[in-house]
Amino acid sequence: MHGRRPTHVEIDLAALRHNLLQVRGKIAPETQVLAVVKADAYGHGAASVAPALQQSGVDLYGVAIAEEGIELRAAGVDRPILVLGGVYPDQEEEFFRHRLTPTLFDLDAARRMDRAAAERGEVCRYHLKIDTGMGRVGFRPEELSEVLPRLVELKHLHLAGVISHLALADEPEHPFTDRQIAIFRDGLAQVRGAGFSPEFIHIGNSAAIFTKDLPECNLVRPGIVLYGALPSAAFAGRLDLLPVMSFRTSVAQLKRVPAGTGVSYAHRFVSERETLLAAIPVGYADGYNRRLSNCGEVLIRGQRAKVAGTVCMDWTLVDVTDIPGVEIGDEVTLLGRDNGNRVSAEEWAERIGSISYEVFCQISKRVPRIYR
Ligand code: PLP
Repeated sequence: MHGRRPTHVEIDLAALRHNLLQVRGKIAPETQVLAVVKADAYGHGAASVAPALQQSGVDLYGVAIAEEGIELRAAGVDRPILVLGGVYPDQEEEFFRHRLTPTLFDLDAARRMDRAAAERGEVCRYHLKIDTGMGRVGFRPEELSEVLPRLVELKHLHLAGVISHLALADEPEHPFTDRQIAIFRDGLAQVRGAGFSPEFIHIGNSAAIFTKDLPECNLVRPGIVLYGALPSAAFAGRLDLLPVMSFRTSVAQLKRVPAGTGVSYAHRFVSERETLLAAIPVGYADGYNRRLSNCGEVLIRGQRAKVAGTVCMDWTLVDVTDIPGVEIGDEVTLLGRDNGNRVSAEEWAERIGSISYEVFCQISKRVPRIYR
């Protein structure tokens, strides 16, 4: 890094591929993988992550919104892209122009896509979403008997897949997941009974891939495990994953202050002894969460240093009194490994009362991503 602020994210593409192999190792050889790269590949940078995965044999991609799919096409991704979040009015053309596959979960959108396909003289392939217990989007199973005949009438649509999403798979012992899988199979039987022959059947997220048999499914949708984090603490020690993201900066200024000195906004940290403080150029505008004030830990020279006081928009102070020899320019690891020590996304998430998914997604656009 020359000529710019040292704050950056490193993305280890070899680790990403390793994690994909772990998924492959859990599924039947004929089962396909849809890599979930929504939200900019969980903050890892979809335009770089998706091509790297493509080289390693990902079959399809999943994004939340059409705009994300368009970004992938601009990055040269040529495999099928499933837009998990549906089609908003006036977006229909974009789906055709960029060869995006919609997930459909309401008849209005289905009719709009059918009309748009008819106008273009094309057929629109889509995945039908069944709500088996997430309660978010999707046709409820009891609606299917009414909905399916309506879908049969839409001659410019082709039902290419059936999808559902699990609500409790990250609690591996929870019985609700089996219930959702059973409801899904019933829904699938109804879909087939209406005369459809979907090519893709899928309900499995990361957690389910590693804990469940997914009968009839021939596609899985891993997200978080590709990025090397656990679906939940229940998976600790059970998966062989490598973290993909490291978040680093370096010491910009050192300051020795006497006991009794208040620092940063609201003086929430007051030194109890003579203290050496390192100012690091990272703040909540970069995704270094403000809840890490007075409790976050970073690595400097392989040792832990604690955040001192309030995390600011662009700056954070850390107490380096107990780390010998700290100098301006020393590397600071906010997330990742340094000399055998590690700050994990799970550790960080626990401190802010959240999950690793949010930790990754919060790292803002202003932090450059470096791919290795
Ligand atoms: N499928 C859908 C519909 C999702 O919304 C998500 C993520 O939220 C995933 C799959 C991937 O989930 P995970 O990251 O837990 O593997």
